[in-house]
Amino acid sequence: MQTPNILRIRGTVMDVNSYVIETADSIVVVDGMLTVSDARAVRSHIAERGKPLRGLIVTHAHPDHYAGANEILHGRDVPYLATAAVAAAIARDDAIKDRVVGPMMGTEWPIERRFPTAIAAATVTLGDITFTVRDVGPGESPADSIWLLDNRHLFVGDLVYNGMHAYLADGQHAAWIAILDQLAATIDRDAMLYVGHGEPGGRALLAVQKRYIQAFVESVAAHRHRAPDERRAAVVADMQRLLPGDNLRFLMELSVDPLAAQLG
Ligand SMILES: [Zn+2]
Repeated sequence: MQTPNILRIRGTVMDVNSYVIETADSIVVVDGMLTVSDARAVRSHIAERGKPLRGLIVTHAHPDHYAGANEILHGRDVPYLATAAVAAAIARDDAIKDRVVGPMMGTEWPIERRFPTAIAAATVTLGDITFTVRDVGPGESPADSIWLLDNRHLFVGDLVYNGMHAYLADGQHAAWIAILDQLAATIDRDAMLYVGHGEPGGRALLAVQKRYIQAFVESVAAHRHRAPDERRAAVVADMQRLLPGDNLRFLMELSVDPLAAQLG
């Protein structure tokens, strides 16, 4: 298989990526956006390309990657796929996300959300595009996966962010770091990581992400006995020394109280 063209579409309501993978006669989308507007932008792009959509893949069990999928698929009977663990976690947690994330997004929250079907094998072919799939267990979310076109093109979901603060409220830090270590030890020197948030990048992102997770856990541990408001402010200050800026800062800030509770 010749390496397909890979286009990143960056959400404007929520800063999250969908990837459009395109060959001469097929399009496959990886991750389905959070909001109605961002999902419609993906659908419009597919319509402009004038090629059949062969499928939509979800990398992990967070709503910014699946909630918009129904809006993209809309009326198309094509495979909508995830690993069994990701599909089960989405079906299990969607009612909670509906209650928590729905009100945050208002009219941008997709009222109708479809859940992916579990894949039956570790290799998936959609049109003329073939993926190898790795179930990596819980990490950044309750269920994560990596979809590879080959050893140099990896769709890693939110296991890796690039230049953005991260969501760490699902509390699987040790497992997440183990996945990053495993990737660092095994992927090609010139592999490209197609990340869930931020620009795709090389393997150097793995060490940066690991350091970010470690710094967050250290910071929350150091400040865990302070009052919640003070604690959040202190952790945000620590993390912004490591990663200046406000890109997805709210996701990191939302993660402080849950981790503090977990650390006791
Ligand atoms: Zn995400």
